[in-house]
Amino acid sequence: MKSVFDTLAAMGHEQVLFCADEPAGYRAVIAIHSTALGPALGGTRLLGYASDEDALVDALRLSRGMTYKNALAGMDVGGGKAVILRGAEPLDRERLFRAHGRFVERLGGRFITGEDVGTTPADMELIRRETRHVKGLASEGGDPSPWTARGVLRAIQAAARHRWGSDDLAGRTVALQGCGSVGGRLAAELHRAGARLLVADVAPDRARHVAAELGATVVPPGAIASAQADIFAPCALGGVLDDRAVQELRAEIVAGAANNQLLEPRHGEALAARGVLYVPDVVANAGGVLSGGADLFGWPRAEVERRVHAIYDTVLRVLEMAAADGAPPAVAAERLAEARLRARAATG
Ligand code: NAD
Repeated sequence: MKSVFDTLAAMGHEQVLFCADEPAGYRAVIAIHSTALGPALGGTRLLGYASDEDALVDALRLSRGMTYKNALAGMDVGGGKAVILRGAEPLDRERLFRAHGRFVERLGGRFITGEDVGTTPADMELIRRETRHVKGLASEGGDPSPWTARGVLRAIQAAARHRWGSDDLAGRTVALQGCGSVGGRLAAELHRAGARLLVADVAPDRARHVAAELGATVVPPGAIASAQADIFAPCALGGVLDDRAVQELRAEIVAGAANNQLLEPRHGEALAARGVLYVPDVVANAGGVLSGGADLFGWPRAEVERRVHAIYDTVLRVLEMAAADGAPPAVAAERLAEARLRARAATG
């Protein structure tokens, strides 16, 4: 078995902290993957893990993903992630998140955190009582979902241009999985662009609502990935592109908002082998991260808009690199991110 330091060296992490405040019921891993482009930015996740090792692996993978996502988005921030191990119930959220805030504070701004799976804007307010290195407070507003949806639309348009020579979506059929904050808005954007929509959600009311508003067709959740469509847009959970989905998929393009869509890297290879064009999620869903630039760097709305619009160019570049290198697009995206990190290291 690899040692922890070998794992860090292989994944390229700068620093990993194991944090504990037992009276507060707080145990966490804070992983700082890279600060090469700026302070490590990444959410705080609260989740029950089968083992401490699972929590560590999650923090390591997610923080590295943040480095790539931020680099690909052209943001001058690095990548990090915190995972708090969900322990005995009931949780004392105030003590838990204030304990977390104290650890974040001790990092002196090397790590800036925000909301993630299992945490809420109200939890961020609790962290804020101990440190200013936290974003996404309830009092700040600023829902990233509309920006994420707009970015996914741009990603779909770029993929259409690459595959079909035109980014016009009129008459194209999109199978949309998940009609939540992002999926619902993406559906509206696609409708405006003239696409036909098949929609699915495990919460049937959400799918019905989108269908009623936009004239979409509701499909059972178990059938959406294999629906007869030109484009499959996963906007629900991660890991949807597994052995079965890859085999059954009938769409020519996969592009959506969900994080970690490929169950394993080999599923990216399998999609490429089947001739399916996959837009890596780290590129497609960067609109949410970019919208944080307003708060982090004081970007005016027009600047956020320009950058989210430019997701189109990044997607085209990644798909062209993948085609030229004969590599799956997810690998090409990592190479592009690494090239940006190296370029920064070279210029200091
Ligand atoms: P959300 O919780 O608002 O919506 C997710 C929707 O998917 C819900 O309506 C849920 O009922 C549905 N769903 C869950 N499992 C399903 C299944 N098996 N089949 C069909 N529907 C299912 O979440 P969201 O904010 O819209 O985010 C969607 C995805 O995009 C997540 O993976 C999230 O991590 C990712 N993402 C979101 C943002 C953002 O700005 N909100 C940014 C980047 C990435």
